[in-house]
Amino acid sequence: MFDAIVVGGSFAGISAAMQLARARRQVLVIDAGRPRNRFAAAAHGFYGHDGRPPLAIRDAARQQLLAYPNVTFAAGEATAVLRADGGFVVAITAEGGGTRQERGRRLVLATGVRDELPPIAGLAERWGSTVLHCPYCHGYEIGGGPIGILGGHAHTLQKGAMFADWGPTTIFLEGGDEPDAAQAALLAARGVTIERSRVAALLGTAPALDGVCLADGRIVRIDALFVAPRTLPASGLAAQLGCAFDDGPQGPYLRVDEARQTTVPGVFAAGDAASPMHNGTLAAAAGVLAGFHAHQSLVFGLPPAPSATTG
Ligand SMILES: Cc1cc2nc3c(=O)[nH]c(=O)nc-3n(C[C@H](O)[C@H](O)[C@H](O)COP(=O)(O)OP(=O)(O)OC[C@H]3O[C@@H](n4cnc5c(N)ncnc54)[C@H](O)[C@@H]3O)c2cc1C
Repeated sequence: MFDAIVVGGSFAGISAAMQLARARRQVLVIDAGRPRNRFAAAAHGFYGHDGRPPLAIRDAARQQLLAYPNVTFAAGEATAVLRADGGFVVAITAEGGGTRQERGRRLVLATGVRDELPPIAGLAERWGSTVLHCPYCHGYEIGGGPIGILGGHAHTLQKGAMFADWGPTTIFLEGGDEPDAAQAALLAARGVTIERSRVAALLGTAPALDGVCLADGRIVRIDALFVAPRTLPASGLAAQLGCAFDDGPQGPYLRVDEARQTTVPGVFAAGDAASPMHNGTLAAAAGVLAGFHAHQSLVFGLPPAPSATTG
């Protein structure tokens, strides 16, 4: 029996496992090898690694973790989980085929989310290069040229004005809410253009982007398009265990308390899967907290889990 099983071996999972490993606990990390930022050529804003390829950052972190002899790594997918004997039994399908079960006293879910991209022609093949989710991560590299924001939700109107710091900005409303008077005034003051005709297709040779073609036939030249895709849990394990979720602006995320414990005692969670804000540094920080508290719960007992019902 492992002291802890960490599912997900990226920013959050490796950070959690590192704390447990350094506490000399037996840790199993299971990773399917599909981190969310794998579509980007470079990751930005992560302490000490600005501009490095995402998988190089992940590989360096994994190598450092696996230097601890009390860490076991399983390349594959955790496909099922159940509570048993005061802990958890996890079914694993290995990368090369074959299944097995492992037991752990604590479970850390660091499984991330998957992005549901809008079904616009030419969008998916540019994801991570000229179709982007976050200006802090990739806005600087656009180089100050014209940018678009694919709207359709309140979030876009609230945040739209700040995008002008990265380049002349057009918000494509996509039939969504109109800005209220205060938003319209701020957007106008920042030089942001509002476009009401829908985006029909992206233009240029992917991954480059020359502009967008609108439903009314006009072309708007942009160098990059920001979208806020709907995000869904990348794994069904939390749902299998009955963990509660909250609704974020982009999709559901696991409810956790300050100790990063979910509503199911003994199940901790960190990273994009358990936060409405998605960023490598925030995921790593949450992973550290999950690791601390999962370890401490092995010594002091489990803290009370947050309520599964809101209110
Ligand atoms: C295109 C793009 C570019 C980005 N660029 C940046 C950037 O430059 N800087 C930045 O700070 N943030 C960036 N982000 C955000 C960043 O990728 C996420 O915030 C971060 O990856 C979250 O880390 P995580 O550990 O929670 O999840 P992930 O990194 O998504 O890792 C989850 C891991 O869990 C594994 N997993 C899931 N389910 C299972 C299972 N059942 N069994 C086994 N393994 C499983 C996955 O395969 C994956 O390896 C970007 C996001 C996108 C989409």
